[in-house]
Amino acid sequence: MEDCLFCKIVKGEINSTKIYEDDFVYAFADIAPQAPFHAVIVPKEHIKSADEINAENSFLVAKIFEAVAIIAKENNLEKGYRVVNNCGEEGGQTVGHLHFHLLARRNLQWPPG
Ligand code: AMP
Ligand code: ZN
Repeated sequence: MEDCLFCKIVKGEINSTKIYEDDFVYAFADIAPQAPFHAVIVPKEHIKSADEINAENSFLVAKIFEAVAIIAKENNLEKGYRVVNNCGEEGGQTVGHLHFHLLARRNLQWPPG
């Protein structure tokens, strides 16, 4: 999608630090990390938010969670991690391309606030 920051990152039009890639998924280092390890994981296909997941595209969410397990193993996150999706304005979503945050290497508090 034109004028989508994460589509541009997927296409390599905007630089990112790659953490993982396969045919369906791209993961990169968050530019403003909220934990010592902070990856942003996106489907290569443009989906606006979690609110737009449906029977046709939900396999991409499974692909993202397969990537989470691979990234965790490759980066020795065996002590644990958190996967977060912010959806919509009140959910704290600032980029309109579905993405999951993978946060690790610090004690993450709950509830998140
Ligand atoms: P959210 O607030 O859930 O929409 O998350 C968007 C995330 O994208 C934030 O954590 C930003 O720090 C991150 N971000 C924005 N621009 C870039 C960029 N150019 N490269 C890497 N991460 C980015
Ligand atoms: Zn996009």
